[in-house]
Amino acid sequence: MQVLAVASELYPLVKTGGLADVAGALPLALKHYRVSTKTLIPGYPAVIGKLRDVTIRLHFDDLLGASADIIETHIDGLDLLILDAPELFDRSGGPYADATGADHADNWRRLAALSLAAARIAAGEMDGWRPDLVHVHDWQAGLVPAYMRYSEAPELPSLITIHNIAFQGRFDAGILPHIGLPAHAYAIDGIEFYGGISYLKAGLQTSWAINTVSPTYAEEILTPEFGMGFEGLLAARAEHLSGIVNGIDTDVWDPRADAALPTHYSAATLKARSANKRVVEQRFGLDEGDGPLLCVVSRLTLQKGMDVLADLADEIVGMGARLAVLGTGDPSLEAELVAAAGRHPGRIAINRGYDEPLSHLMQAGSDAILIPSRFEPCGLTQLYGLRYGCVPVVSRTGGLNDTVIDANPAALSAGAATGVSFNAVTIDNLRRALKRTVGLYRNPKIWSGMQKQGMKSDVSWDRSAGLYAGLYAQLIANKG
Ligand code: ADP
Repeated sequence: MQVLAVASELYPLVKTGGLADVAGALPLALKHYRVSTKTLIPGYPAVIGKLRDVTIRLHFDDLLGASADIIETHIDGLDLLILDAPELFDRSGGPYADATGADHADNWRRLAALSLAAARIAAGEMDGWRPDLVHVHDWQAGLVPAYMRYSEAPELPSLITIHNIAFQGRFDAGILPHIGLPAHAYAIDGIEFYGGISYLKAGLQTSWAINTVSPTYAEEILTPEFGMGFEGLLAARAEHLSGIVNGIDTDVWDPRADAALPTHYSAATLKARSANKRVVEQRFGLDEGDGPLLCVVSRLTLQKGMDVLADLADEIVGMGARLAVLGTGDPSLEAELVAAAGRHPGRIAINRGYDEPLSHLMQAGSDAILIPSRFEPCGLTQLYGLRYGCVPVVSRTGGLNDTVIDANPAALSAGAATGVSFNAVTIDNLRRALKRTVGLYRNPKIWSGMQKQGMKSDVSWDRSAGLYAGLYAQLIANKG
């Protein structure tokens, strides 16, 4: 199977969010399923600067007004097609915004050009290669299936993955004459969205299938609370909507070999974790104690439920637990957590930074990681927690619901429990979950059983890549 993937970010070259991780990891995992992927990404300076062996595969004199080349290259096992269009992508700042944080004013043209280039490759313009299917990610590539739908060339099967439905690629309807789509594309069953144009809407409307990064989030976005204006469209296309959870890089996240850990361990040598726990306590200036060491590694935002957690800080100490927080975010939430740490020296501490090695250490030394998110398309920190024997305490939403098995009596007696989960993010629900967590921790046999069960969970990309390969095959088979 030959797949053209289209993404505006790709780890390790350019990353602002989880989309980059998926774009970078999925093609590697798909190789085991006999799927070869070429991934088209914009030629940002960070990308062009890393090019070594390059072949120019296609030239456009006029790609929405810009001169552009498609360059093929191989980096870290990935087969990449780079859209080299200096007028569009050779500039300072990030992928979407300038150095001051303001969006580039021509993002509509930059990302339309990326999508148009993809559609022309899909149509067979690149000598010697034509994909069987096109897989596009988020709004930045949302126009790809629309260009295919409204062109003369035979349409290929297409899949769009939603990583975050909050980012919708909305622009003024006035851009329509400049993006190379016919006037009739501006319709309710086309790219029109509330009087403007939405590139995400275009993708959701015209791609053959839609998926998102967990089965539960795929259901949640059918409701107004989570759908952010797309719930109606998605409900109408529900039979083409599914969810596949993300995996993690199990080489980077491996407690037997992680360079960020003072002491390595496995499920068979769990007791060795306690050395890491001492180091976490030292790093955060926390007392040793017989209650659990809880941690948070997160953006400190309302999405992540950090307001509710801050409200419970005093009670957490009252329960005999300690809390280490790593993260930055809303200043008011940061201030609440700093104040809590001030009231409880030795019991609560916060590090307001972004520190990758410390995040590994915390997963390897804390007893539990708290993730009380209001919504969570997939979530990664609970997957790291499972792999590191750091028991996840999570709200029952999105990917958190799909990856953590709550320690209810049935799951405990079957030896299946891997964490603690609770319903809607309220103070009462989180309090109950924390009390339950502390109670479970006080029973070392049950607790280590949960840790070991979590460490057995398959959080690799392999299973999910198999599901993507199956979805691709199904779409290709339905071609006629
Ligand atoms: P989101 O993408 O919504 O922020 P995820 O759980 O999907 O949430 O991914 C967050 C990622 O960022 C994880 O890899 C997590 O370990 C990391 N992270 C978040 N905050 C910090 C921090 N302060 N220091 C180090 N890593 C962090």
